[in-house]
Amino acid sequence: MPAHKEKNSEERNHKNIQNDTQASQVQWGRAWEVDWFSLASILFLLMFAPLTVYYFIMSCDQYQCSLTDPLIDLLMGNKHLSDIWNKTPTLTYTAAGIYTIWVAFQVILYMFVPDFCHKFLPGYVGGVQEGAVTPAGVVNKYEINGLQAWIITHVLWFANAYYFHWFSPTIIFDNWIPLLWCANILGYVVSTFAMIKGYFFPTNAKDCKFTGNFFYDYMMGIEFNPRIGKWFDFKLFFNGRPGIVAWTLINLSYAAKQQELYGQVTNSMILVNVLQGIYVLDFFWNEAWYLKTIDICHDHFGWYLGWGDCVWLPYLYTLQGLYLVYHPVQLSTASAIGVLMLGLIGYYIFRMTNHQKDLFRRTNGNCRIWGKKPEYIECSYMSVDGTKYYSKLMISGFWGWARHFNYTGDLMGSLAYCLACGFEHILPYFYIIYMTILLTHRCIRDEHRCFSKYGKDWKLYTAAVPYRLIPGVF
Ligand code: NDP
Repeated sequence: MPAHKEKNSEERNHKNIQNDTQASQVQWGRAWEVDWFSLASILFLLMFAPLTVYYFIMSCDQYQCSLTDPLIDLLMGNKHLSDIWNKTPTLTYTAAGIYTIWVAFQVILYMFVPDFCHKFLPGYVGGVQEGAVTPAGVVNKYEINGLQAWIITHVLWFANAYYFHWFSPTIIFDNWIPLLWCANILGYVVSTFAMIKGYFFPTNAKDCKFTGNFFYDYMMGIEFNPRIGKWFDFKLFFNGRPGIVAWTLINLSYAAKQQELYGQVTNSMILVNVLQGIYVLDFFWNEAWYLKTIDICHDHFGWYLGWGDCVWLPYLYTLQGLYLVYHPVQLSTASAIGVLMLGLIGYYIFRMTNHQKDLFRRTNGNCRIWGKKPEYIECSYMSVDGTKYYSKLMISGFWGWARHFNYTGDLMGSLAYCLACGFEHILPYFYIIYMTILLTHRCIRDEHRCFSKYGKDWKLYTAAVPYRLIPGVF
């Protein structure tokens, strides 16, 4: 057992555990070597993720969101692949124009409109903020103005829908497949550019990782925090905008399409818009906190983030709304309240768990969690230049219940969006299936990384909090 070192009376009172700091490891961050399983998974994803997106969107367009009918048609010989492909809308000048204006507008909001929200919104953290220490020991600065970008974009959207009428609010739905080609082009261009940049003009050479395997490097990224100039940060821009700003607009466009087709918007569509709207707004309200999450802190920028943010997120996270355009489900009042409660409780757990960690880390443990001083395990790690850093892992509040209770809340919220769509088709349930796989995999990936970062200290932590997602079960 590592030695327990007591630093002062305050820490003694709260049973904090200080570990032997010599145990920490030097290497942390993304892998340097690729095993066969990782390589096979990556090749699988590179091939099948784009096809999956196409299959889902095509199923709605041509088969009323049935995932089985296209397969049955193909297997029975009723249709050939070419029949389905020939019926698929192609890239259009209209879609290319919409997409170019959209991305350019988000770049302008990101780069040229400094945050003013933090000047009048109490409690909101915006403006210039610092990220976490990178493996090379760099602390990047970010201009946090996502909430402002989201507000301006949505004010303009509603101003257009109710006053200017420059374009129809169904514009996104009406161009959904042509826009998919535009999103793919951007996703591939950005990921390829990031790879070339990593080789030839990285922002910080010490924070680059090369495995020597082309596919792994392309997928998982080489550069840690690629930037153009001082402020255009690829991760912050592509993660948040255009994908997440678009999420709520896409849902609004689906609601407008329901109104156009059926003369009303169903309660299920309202639930999906409201619950996902809360999630998106929460993301932007907490954008500064987001700098400390795995995407920004630990993942390198490659196809996984670049293409994922441009294509996977806007197309697959919005499947419920798309489904409800084709199947306008009207829930009973009891079911609607049940879905709303599940979504809100899930959101509460998700937010409170994240908030507890953020508060704990910001105050270096000098805070109150559920009315008490938090307990924690003290740990240390080293950056590549050999500098030693100290950190703390909290074992109080939701973080004492399970090691990733924030994911549990996220999963409850995700289930609520799916349940809003009823039980007729599997397609809207893709999200909960995907999120379960993503977050379980993320638990394992994160814990592997934490173990290589904190060494024996991490083992102490997992002994104190033995479960990952559901206390007593997993
Ligand atoms: P976490 O916010 O859980 O961050 C994990 C990191 O927190 C660890 O790597 C470690 O970092 C630190 N940490 C772990 N345990 C403790 C502890 N007990 N006390 C203090 N710090 C700890 O994970 P994510 O960044 O993955 O997720 C953030 C949120 O985003 C989650 O709520 C998740 O549900 C959500 N999310 C949503 C996705 C979506 O697609 N909708 C995708 C991914 C995430 P360190 O090295 O600093 O110690």
